[in-house]
Amino acid sequence: MNDQASPHNDDGIDPAARAAGHQPALTGCPWHDVNEMLQAAGLRPTRQRMALGWLLFGKGARHLTAEMLYEEATLAKVPVSLATVYNTLNQLTDAGLLRQVSVDGTKTYFDTNVTAHHHFYLENNHELVDIPDPHLVLSKMPDVPEGYEISRVDMVVRLRKKR
Ligand SMILES: [Zn+2]
Repeated sequence: MNDQASPHNDDGIDPAARAAGHQPALTGCPWHDVNEMLQAAGLRPTRQRMALGWLLFGKGARHLTAEMLYEEATLAKVPVSLATVYNTLNQLTDAGLLRQVSVDGTKTYFDTNVTAHHHFYLENNHELVDIPDPHLVLSKMPDVPEGYEISRVDMVVRLRKKR
């Protein structure tokens, strides 16, 4: 008798994150985790990727622009150029380790949380924060042209301080 009762996969891992192929078990050592993460995504763990990955992923979920990461790298005495920071962020995004969130069409944030979620944008201090409710949905989805399907909905709810 076959009692391999595992009809579905409910280990809580978001399918998008799973598809991205990087769910290394956390060891509590960010350096080790970043190495694993890069290797699993097929990226060679170069010194620069390791250093930037450590700044990005070593502190929990974060939303950073390239300029913000460059500033952190400079303060941490990591010798990188802004161009390298941009390239690395794009490579990590292509590898599914980061998600891009654009605000205003000019400002791009890189989110270390690649699971489905939406954002508040705090206009006063230009900060992007997660909306805690992951089940937020549009009450009416738009019709999409034939031959297309909705891949993802990114909602940015802009907030400003009350006067
Ligand atoms: Zn986020």
